[in-house]
Amino acid sequence: MKHHPPRERQGRVADAGAQSPGGGRWRIRVRMATLCRLRQCHPTGVVIAHLHTSSRVSAKQHYKMLVLGGGTGGIAMSARMKRMVGADNVAVVEPAEMHYYQPIWTLVGAGAKTVASSGRSTASVVPSGVKWVKSKVQEINPETNTVRTEDGNEISYEYLIVALGLQLHYEKIKGLPEGFEHPKIGSNYSLQTVEKTWKALQDFKEGNAIFTFPNTPVKCAGAPQKIMYLSDAYLRKTGKREKAKVIYNTSLPVLFGIKKYAETLWDIVKTRDLQVNLRHNLIEVRADKQEAVFENLDKPGETTVFEYEMLHVTPPMGPHSVVKSSPLADEAGWLDVNKDTLQHNKYPNVFGIGDCTNLPTAKTGAAVAAQSAILNRTIKKVMKKEMPDKKYDGYTSCPLVTSYNTVVLAEFDYNGQPLETFPINQAKERRLMYFMKADVMPHLYWHGLLRYDNVLKLKLLNFSCTNIYPPSLFAQGLLGRTRTIQETASSGDEISTLLPVCTLKVSFPNKSNRTSSHESRFSNNLQFSHHCNRRGNRALIPPEVTMKPNKCFAVSLKNI
Ligand SMILES: Cc1cc2nc3c(=O)[nH]c(=O)nc-3n(C[C@H](O)[C@H](O)[C@H](O)COP(=O)(O)OP(=O)(O)OC[C@H]3O[C@@H](n4cnc5c(N)ncnc54)[C@H](O)[C@@H]3O)c2cc1C
Repeated sequence: MKHHPPRERQGRVADAGAQSPGGGRWRIRVRMATLCRLRQCHPTGVVIAHLHTSSRVSAKQHYKMLVLGGGTGGIAMSARMKRMVGADNVAVVEPAEMHYYQPIWTLVGAGAKTVASSGRSTASVVPSGVKWVKSKVQEINPETNTVRTEDGNEISYEYLIVALGLQLHYEKIKGLPEGFEHPKIGSNYSLQTVEKTWKALQDFKEGNAIFTFPNTPVKCAGAPQKIMYLSDAYLRKTGKREKAKVIYNTSLPVLFGIKKYAETLWDIVKTRDLQVNLRHNLIEVRADKQEAVFENLDKPGETTVFEYEMLHVTPPMGPHSVVKSSPLADEAGWLDVNKDTLQHNKYPNVFGIGDCTNLPTAKTGAAVAAQSAILNRTIKKVMKKEMPDKKYDGYTSCPLVTSYNTVVLAEFDYNGQPLETFPINQAKERRLMYFMKADVMPHLYWHGLLRYDNVLKLKLLNFSCTNIYPPSLFAQGLLGRTRTIQETASSGDEISTLLPVCTLKVSFPNKSNRTSSHESRFSNNLQFSHHCNRRGNRALIPPEVTMKPNKCFAVSLKNI
């Protein structure tokens, strides 16, 4: 690993409240079912059980694995790294008391969920035993393998994972963020303004309801229009739609970047009489007069003033200032990582995940989930001084909420090719997908993605089959899309899932050459709960279990 003399200090900045227009902080809460309920009773976020350590001044100033940012990517990787190198060797730097599941803010802005349901304490999501350094990163020095925090501490690392997210720039729109003090304006993109969207929608009487998309990369590029569809549905439900003109002013030259889903969306906007103005970029809000000023990106200098009765602002976004001012940034300021492996292009002991990176895919939590598995594999290989062998395909997903009970589930890769989970046409509006978005995904997030240290990991001890035809064993988990974890498995193989539930499927051709199969579900807190004799989720599975589903084959598994 490279060790270089200290460099001159980089420009400071760091704004952990970057998600909020006024620089406010993010707060948090909880973890597994029981603890979850207990902790939610503690508004200060005080940890009830000493499951991990947290302090402002750390005694130990060196970590084998240092994670910057305790958002989606940071916590997901902390959990995985705990499993890989042990909790004592992992620290995560995160200043916020609360951790939020941001995708649900789309529904909060439309009154379908509460803000409270979207957050849990950081204390509860930092994996047990992992050190939580409760401070802001102010400077990253990859030449000396150190970072400096706001409180003046220097932490050294052997390996670094950067997961600092991106920054919101409401201030780049004239009249904001102070304009949010007026009514009729909201934004689902920050904790402080998401409930203002719902208020503006409820207060709507008559006039223009305007929704914007900025002239920068954004996280979840579908969110700016999801709230338009929900607002349209709300206005119809409350009998106000006839008095409303619903307008989507977007900087983009398209409604949505992936043709397959864009076609459905164009049909929807036409059928529901929603006006779409392409290449319109919000540059000023005169909140006292309820006016929004847009520039025409195709005709420089030309501006149009729109009066509004309701305005939803998607702010300009950009790279995190700490990344931008460090040697880790590319020319545009994003973390410069290899698009296949997520390893930094210049510093081999540095890795990146999520919104802070320059990965050429849509910035979403679903992308982070897919990236976390690849990054885990990359780091494992790098630690063994081997070449990374798994490639990230750019998988990302955007559940385009089109009403209070329908979603078009867009999933695609680096090339904009659909990469869908379900064997049905996902470009169609579906109730099932709304259920996935509103109820299933949050559960997978809190109990799957963030809890990887507790998910099921099995070792196949023995797999025997009396059938004369060669059998195969499949292990499947679900997160965002179903994946076959292992195409075929044999004795000694490790099988892991991204969920505390794993479906094992044994299949083999029978005499008439048709495939027979048997499935069995393993869950670390249901099926084997009666075997619980130790603390902790993983121990809920007995050390060894043998499943004999039929006469043909037997499987012995060990929980590892
Ligand atoms: C309204 C909305 C709707 C969305 N809808 C969806 C959706 O439907 N599906 C989907 O997949 N994704 C969706 N997303 C996007 C998704 O939430 C993000 O892409 C995801 O959270 C990115 O994870 P991350 O770890 O890169 O960043 P984040 O989760 O934002 O985490 C960054 C962390 O870094 C911390 N931090 C900041 N500065 C510092 C510092 N100086 N030092 C230390 N820590 C710091 C922050 O406090 C934060 O905890 C949506 C987002 C929004 C806002």
